Amino acid sequence: MVDLRSDTVTRPTPGMLEAMMRADVGDDVYGEDPEVNALEAEAAALFGKDAAVFTPTGSMANQIGLQLLVRPGEELLCDVKAHVVNFEMGAAAALGGISTRTWAGPNGRLDTGLVEPLINRPNPYVTVTRAIAVENTHNIGGGTVQPLAELRRLRDLADAYGLGLHLDGARIWNAHAATGTPFAEYGRLFDTVSVCLSKGLGAPVGSLLITDAERAQRARVIRKRLGGGMRQAGFLAAAGRYALAHHIDRLGEDHARARHLARSLEPFGICDPAQVETNIVLVRIPEIAQVAAAAADQGVKISVLGADWGRMLTHLDVDDAGIEHAVKVLGTLLGK
Ligand SMILES: *Cc1c(COP(=O)(O)O)cnc(C)c1O
Repeated sequence: MVDLRSDTVTRPTPGMLEAMMRADVGDDVYGEDPEVNALEAEAAALFGKDAAVFTPTGSMANQIGLQLLVRPGEELLCDVKAHVVNFEMGAAAALGGISTRTWAGPNGRLDTGLVEPLINRPNPYVTVTRAIAVENTHNIGGGTVQPLAELRRLRDLADAYGLGLHLDGARIWNAHAATGTPFAEYGRLFDTVSVCLSKGLGAPVGSLLITDAERAQRARVIRKRLGGGMRQAGFLAAAGRYALAHHIDRLGEDHARARHLARSLEPFGICDPAQVETNIVLVRIPEIAQVAAAAADQGVKISVLGADWGRMLTHLDVDDAGIEHAVKVLGTLLGK
């Protein structure tokens, strides 16, 4: 089976499992889990920030970040296809009381020219804008890398208007692999950063919210309130530490395989290799649900996102042979 639906489907490698078995654990709600404490310190240092808070999911890390920056009845701006407004079950509104408005960036790419006109300054007649969230890489945009110059312009804009900046960095690892931009640069530009250990890095569970010391303290309160206070979480943190140490440098392989996959499928007119920047290949296929079902019968799983479109992702558990198999199966089904 070649599972290209998502980079979340990976299973721990033998080395990662061994690290989990060796984990030195304690009760993290008491702050006494050595593996969690080490993971949080390592992640904070990597991004040049004070502190990090380990969470069960990226959604929780995002929502904690948003609640730190925006109070109930205030507003967050983000891209129209952002994970925080599409795939977190309305949590910003339901749990944070946060109002949202969106801009539509091409392929999810940030354009501060679209953002600035949306900003509501404090006055008695409007919902005041307090923060802006950016996704890097952009998932539904197709693994789009946000241009560093534009992120810097956004920081200047946020400073000029007194706004907070949240980075949904579930796949910031892929942005780093594609551009070489140091993680500390992202840490410098954003007030709160969420990262996922369970996407391209291949850990079974876990995310982090990375921020300054004062916000991290408040983040622990919000995490507990959301039900995210975990006990001997060090078994999971050990997987995350292993992922940080061993699985960042290899991401270029996933990107090369995604490009190869897109080039191989280009003759069928379903994708554009020029749009593939990282590990995500968006495809346009009429009646994709039927094609996906037939492909799954032949051992290839792809993700259906709409009536005529979907995506394929490369990751730790897909090798060159898997890509060749996927190309063969899809090529036969698309028949040309
Ligand atoms: C996967 C993902 C998340 C977090 O998802 P969880 O399933 O809650 O861990 C957040 N943002 C983006 C862009 C993602 O792709």
